Amino acid sequence: MNDLYVLYRGPLASCNYDCPYCPFAKRVDPPALLRQDRADLLRFVEWAAATTDRRLSVLFTPWGEGLTRSWYREAIVRLSHLPHVARVSIQTNLSARTGWLAAADPRVAALWTTYHPGQVTRARFLDKCRELDALGVGYSVGVVGLPAHYEEAAGLRSALPAHVYMWVNAAEGHVYTPAEEARWTALDPRFGDSVRPHASLGLPCRAGEDAISVLGDGTVRRCHFIQTPIGNLYDGSWRAGLRPRACTNALCDCHIGYVHLQPLKLRDVYAGGLLERIPSAWPSPP
Ligand code: SF4
Ligand code: SF4
Repeated sequence: MNDLYVLYRGPLASCNYDCPYCPFAKRVDPPALLRQDRADLLRFVEWAAATTDRRLSVLFTPWGEGLTRSWYREAIVRLSHLPHVARVSIQTNLSARTGWLAAADPRVAALWTTYHPGQVTRARFLDKCRELDALGVGYSVGVVGLPAHYEEAAGLRSALPAHVYMWVNAAEGHVYTPAEEARWTALDPRFGDSVRPHASLGLPCRAGEDAISVLGDGTVRRCHFIQTPIGNLYDGSWRAGLRPRACTNALCDCHIGYVHLQPLKLRDVYAGGLLERIPSAWPSPP
């Protein structure tokens, strides 16, 4: 069965955290928008359940925090039990409770978590990680590589079990000296993928071939970074929109995009952990 990697982003744009580097910090969505977000997500889940001719891998990439909303938790549980769904994951700050994951299939559900120093203590975040370990749910942990985060990131890395991969995203607008790059790379051996944007113009990218970005209304685009639609999920036009393509942007600087940029060969690195960002060879061989 052919794979289809789906990034889904509905209208939700609110978050319970207040990260100084984020436009969605402490934003509150009006009730009508939340109702729309819920209805859109339910429709998407129905589409996924009915699209049995593809092996689906789904990553929810809300602008804000999704797991404080019941409909994201219920969607992950339901999708995890569908036989043609290989993976379902969500980007989350891991602030919400985790017990609901006991109802999900732990072989399919996984989390992309981010630690935000200043919003939660390291000890509390590590407690949540232990809860995920007890549930048998896979997850990656990440931090934004701001200079002020370094000590917290290093402390987190040394406290996390060796089987947990911790990624570091280069902070937007920050240029890393060779020494800074080296010390972040000591925490995340794949920091080099993130530290400089990838020149992508004209290079083959699987986004738009077997990977798509879906908005709440069903608009399908190649990726989150190229706005031109290639079809809609709900009228079936997405199928005709899929084909091999070259990237039309100058640069690609986000993991959820450049993992599909073919010359980087990152699908080989992440394999089954592509969407939740866990390298297949983690823990790395000594
Ligand atoms: S947890 Fe994520 S979405 Fe929420 S404020 Fe921080 S960076 Fe933004
Ligand atoms: S390289 Fe990045 S921006 Fe270009 S098509 Fe692929 S995912 Fe989109």
